[in-house]
Amino acid sequence: MELMEIEDLKSPPRPPLERLLREVAIFLRTMKIHETIQIDRDFNVSLKDSEKYHALKIIGVSKVPVTVDGNEKIDLTLDELGFRDNFPRNIFRVCRDHSELITSCWPTPLFFLRSFSGELNEVWAKLEYLNPFSNSIKDRIGWYMLIDILKNDPRGKDTKYVYEASSTNTGIALTCIAKNFGLRTKIYFPSSVQKSSDLYMKILGSEVVRVPEFLTTETIDRVKRDSEKDQALHINQFENDANFITHLKFTAKEIDLQLEKIGKIPSRIICALGTSGHASAIAFYFKNRYPGRVEVVGVQPAKDEVIPGMRRVETGMKWIHMVEIDRIVDVTRVEAFKGLVKVARNEGLPVGFSSGAVVAALEKLPKIEGVTVLVMPDHVYKYYEQLEKLLSTNSN
Ligand code: PLP
Repeated sequence: MELMEIEDLKSPPRPPLERLLREVAIFLRTMKIHETIQIDRDFNVSLKDSEKYHALKIIGVSKVPVTVDGNEKIDLTLDELGFRDNFPRNIFRVCRDHSELITSCWPTPLFFLRSFSGELNEVWAKLEYLNPFSNSIKDRIGWYMLIDILKNDPRGKDTKYVYEASSTNTGIALTCIAKNFGLRTKIYFPSSVQKSSDLYMKILGSEVVRVPEFLTTETIDRVKRDSEKDQALHINQFENDANFITHLKFTAKEIDLQLEKIGKIPSRIICALGTSGHASAIAFYFKNRYPGRVEVVGVQPAKDEVIPGMRRVETGMKWIHMVEIDRIVDVTRVEAFKGLVKVARNEGLPVGFSSGAVVAALEKLPKIEGVTVLVMPDHVYKYYEQLEKLLSTNSN
């Protein structure tokens, strides 16, 4: 048996996520591997071990145990395969490209919310606005979906354009990161997105298309048609499994290892729902890593309410149906606003509407003992238009 760098092996294309999740769940529950991966002399992973190889890859280990003639029984921990290696220790943060810049920001901080905590319950915020491009959780998927599609989509080699529907953050993230690869973006904004987003996209050199549809998901067919006509890459964050995978490999694992550092396991994690990428990956990770111990809560806008970046489950989400979420909490726009104001005034953290929605959900739920983690997706500064109106009618 030999331990090889996972990136040095060649493999058949990644199977659909649904087929990998069973293997990933076993790895997360046991944190062990009991059999080597079979490869040939040219370092190709055997077809029969392809799912196991890809499961290890999306869990984020750096090495794999391999044998050339058949499989060998082994007993190794995922830690021995470098489960903790996907966070580079670049403490002086000298970055030569966009990949190095974004990964140098990870793990994003887990910040103790003193004013929300009590003697028996601690509340921590995962501060995703400390990502470098869109100042949001969407940098993670912009980065990973782009490198994944460039590696795996045959059109990736020839195209110069990336098309995507976005409610702002993914558009900014993709536009910035695309520069790394000499690509330009065309971002489709539905009518529900604030006007100032057009300006940011133009400053960044992206083309902007305003479409009459109200929700980002309602524009997917249009973006698909246009991208096929123009031979552009369509990233499609709503169905692209790289969205879920980056949150499994990084966001969820970060929360786990950060809490491990202070000797804790979360009792509850609360996440806002848009594509459902981060909530689903976090649910899948923690439900398997600590079965029966972690409650995962998804937050959606109440009926007929608009909260930037968020959607209701019934408008169509892919991954949420593959995982176990304990509760869905409805929040109004005003409640989300009050939540963000509370975090800003009590904690000095400039978080956005979906973070405020997560706080509003926390306040609607019965209190539980132990650690609660609130995933705070972005910052407040993009939302001048909404804030101006809400502040004049709701503040004291
Ligand atoms: N919050 C903000 C500000 C967002 O932009 C988004 C997604 O667009 C979300 C929350 C939801 O995240 P996800 O798409 O992972 O469900």
